Amino acid sequence: MAAPWEDVLRDGPAIREAAAVAVDAALLQGVLMRTEGQPNDSDVVSFAPFTLLPSAVPSALFEQAYAVQQDFNMLVDAISQNKEFLEHALASTIKVDDFTARLFRIHTQVLEEGLAQSVFLGINRSDYMFDSGVDGTPALKQIEINTIAASFGGLTSRTVAVHGQVLKVLGKPQEASRLLPNNPSRGLALGIAKAWELYSSPSAVVMFLVEEVQRNIFDQRCVENELWNRNIPVIRRRFRDVFEKGSLDEARRLYMDGKEVAVVYYREGYVPSNYSEQNWEARLLLERSRAVKCPDIATQLAGTKKVQQELSRPGTLERLLPGRAEAVTRIRATFAGLYSLDMGAEGDTVAAMAITDPDRFVLKPQREGGGNNLYGEELRQVLEKIRDSPQRTSYILMDKIKPRPALNYLLRAHSPLQVSECVSELGIFGVYVRQGSELVLNEAAGHLLRTKAVEHADGGVAAGVAVLDTPFLV
Ligand code: ADP
Ligand code: MG
Repeated sequence: MAAPWEDVLRDGPAIREAAAVAVDAALLQGVLMRTEGQPNDSDVVSFAPFTLLPSAVPSALFEQAYAVQQDFNMLVDAISQNKEFLEHALASTIKVDDFTARLFRIHTQVLEEGLAQSVFLGINRSDYMFDSGVDGTPALKQIEINTIAASFGGLTSRTVAVHGQVLKVLGKPQEASRLLPNNPSRGLALGIAKAWELYSSPSAVVMFLVEEVQRNIFDQRCVENELWNRNIPVIRRRFRDVFEKGSLDEARRLYMDGKEVAVVYYREGYVPSNYSEQNWEARLLLERSRAVKCPDIATQLAGTKKVQQELSRPGTLERLLPGRAEAVTRIRATFAGLYSLDMGAEGDTVAAMAITDPDRFVLKPQREGGGNNLYGEELRQVLEKIRDSPQRTSYILMDKIKPRPALNYLLRAHSPLQVSECVSELGIFGVYVRQGSELVLNEAAGHLLRTKAVEHADGGVAAGVAVLDTPFLV
């Protein structure tokens, strides 16, 4: 799996020169983020963290990840329409996890009233690591699928040019020419545009629902600009704006500041800290509306870790995707070991197994955004404390994936240039649109490679741990 630039990694002067070029190229290309100190203004911005060099990715696994994406799109869409499955899968979790319970309550409430929405748009990102098996052969293993606010599709389309230039500066033009073009933001925008078109109200807008703190705005702007280029108007609003100024008419059309909203694209709403009581009310208003929500609340629930674990039970995929044996096989091939901690004999055995051998596993709560999982000694301590309590059912247990590390430099503002042992996570963006019961669009829209130093067990780019990368297929 080695990349063909091991020779230059220890060449200090060459690396320093390449890093200076890389940072300026990133700024020129728009690989940007607002600063921690001024997260809501663009007067002073910095580059989003990225690797100096592209990372090697086995081409067979890269192709496998693309090949299974339409299957995952279908699966998520099927789960979102399967009330009984969601209810059953989440029954134990919602007894102890207030956040999931609250989402589930809105889901139930909206179904009871009857859906006003008839066009559905899913944008997800399925994330994988390359597990090095006992014989060292890497295998593609899914970490999770993100069904809400999957980010970095914009910025990642701009890292290819940066890495291409770095390779040229390091005397590797041949390798530079092999980097694959990648533009998820375009694919995401095409999905949003399709949903907007099917909503069929030419004066209606697309609303990006954004966080109070907007450091990653440039990533979102990439998608916004694609929409404006297609003459689709975009507004950006927060939950509190919706609470203050959002309304529904008698047909449950959604209005913001007098403008009808065709599509609500959530880049917010995935963690408890996003919600005050008012924000929950705003969420309910949006869910009740006729607007296309990306995602609707059922699709958000389909992306919970508990659902991921339940999917690994024998027979479940077959039931969710009847008559699609090949898709089921492709999906299942990416699953790592996943274990339920539900109360009962099965969960008791799983808890005991994890406590005996914590380094083999990851303990995951129903949270997103990085930094929430437990590993090693901490996993053991927490699980010992809750092993006999229903609290344990707010978690799932997963086999720990062990990728082979490679050397790289992680470029961050105000950080020294030093070589790190790194591992990467590959994400594939999926986009689909359904009108009534007919899937009218189902695509893989591009990829995202994120790389982190091995000393961090957890965490994404926004969490300050991983950085943007570009795959170099080997
Ligand atoms: P989140 O929703 O917080 O992103 P993830 O399941 O993606 O949750 O986990 C966060 C990070 O933890 C991942 O990006 C990965 O680095 C690490 N991680 C998660 N699951 C595993 C696993 N099974 N094996 C190894 N590392 C994992
Ligand atoms: Mg993740």
